[in-house]
Amino acid sequence: MAHEVVVVGSVNADLVVRVDRRPGPGETVLGSDLVTLPGGKGANQAVAAGRLGGRVGILARTGDDGNGALLREALLAAGVDVTHLLVADGPSGVALITVGPDGDNSIIVSPGANGRLTEQDVVAARELVAGAAVVSLQLEIPLVTVAAAARAAADAGARVVLNLSPAATVPSDLLALCDPLVVNEHEAAFLLPAADPSDDPATLATALLELGPRSVVITLGADGALVATRDGARTVPSPRVEPVDTTGAGDAFTAALCLRLARGDDLESAARFAVRVGAAAVLGEGAQSSYPAEGDELPS
Ligand code: ATP
Repeated sequence: MAHEVVVVGSVNADLVVRVDRRPGPGETVLGSDLVTLPGGKGANQAVAAGRLGGRVGILARTGDDGNGALLREALLAAGVDVTHLLVADGPSGVALITVGPDGDNSIIVSPGANGRLTEQDVVAARELVAGAAVVSLQLEIPLVTVAAAARAAADAGARVVLNLSPAATVPSDLLALCDPLVVNEHEAAFLLPAADPSDDPATLATALLELGPRSVVITLGADGALVATRDGARTVPSPRVEPVDTTGAGDAFTAALCLRLARGDDLESAARFAVRVGAAAVLGEGAQSSYPAEGDELPS
């Protein structure tokens, strides 16, 4: 059976060490034991949608190392179809994360094999991409690959969802395929030189729509999300929860949104479900480890 959601994106191992303080240039400090967690925006979204019971596939590339095996295992455990999880010679993508005493993160991402997911890989996986109801994209793989996946999806009648993270300038023909473009306030302001992240979200959304996407979703952290089409904008509040760790909440939100869109919800109802999944994802430590499973009670 065809997939509800196909993710074309990144897979990273998150290498996490806690430190009392970060080293200066030329300095060494001791940290906690290393914890290695599956991550990467593409993998997070695929795992989140898979755990929610979606029929999910991923087009991504790991390296031929132990981290690649860990990443494949995490996707399989969430029920994600890994037929198109490719392997390159060399290292998998990693995020080197130090967590300071206040829980603040400093992160260096080494793209590794993610940087070698190519347009040719999209061509070779065209049946996967064309068979999806929704194709979910982010920007941790080469932009030409993202653009090729969006074109292949749109040509086949699949709905294209682009999460503009990490923020980058994208061509207008790619933006025009997005339905919706998903951004947080910082990513919204990045695309709008005259704007500030603290601007009214409805104003940001109106300006974003002028750049060409068919619809826009701005995630607002504890305040939920704003959904906007040319017919108007609406705020969807998030359930009130006591957050433990917000890492990967945006990916959980986007995955839930994609799954509900694939199942025929309109954008606003999909967002009403997605804010509940996003709120559930802030109740536990880590990204994938905090994602709710199908049947779990969600905050409301
Ligand atoms: P991240 O980069 O941390 O994954 P993001 O900046 O992409 O996050 P946010 O807007 O912070 O995205 O969060 C996405 C969604 O998660 C929100 O729309 C909301 O539904 C939920 N969420 C995040 N933080 C909270 C919170 N403190 N309380 C309730 N829900 C939250």
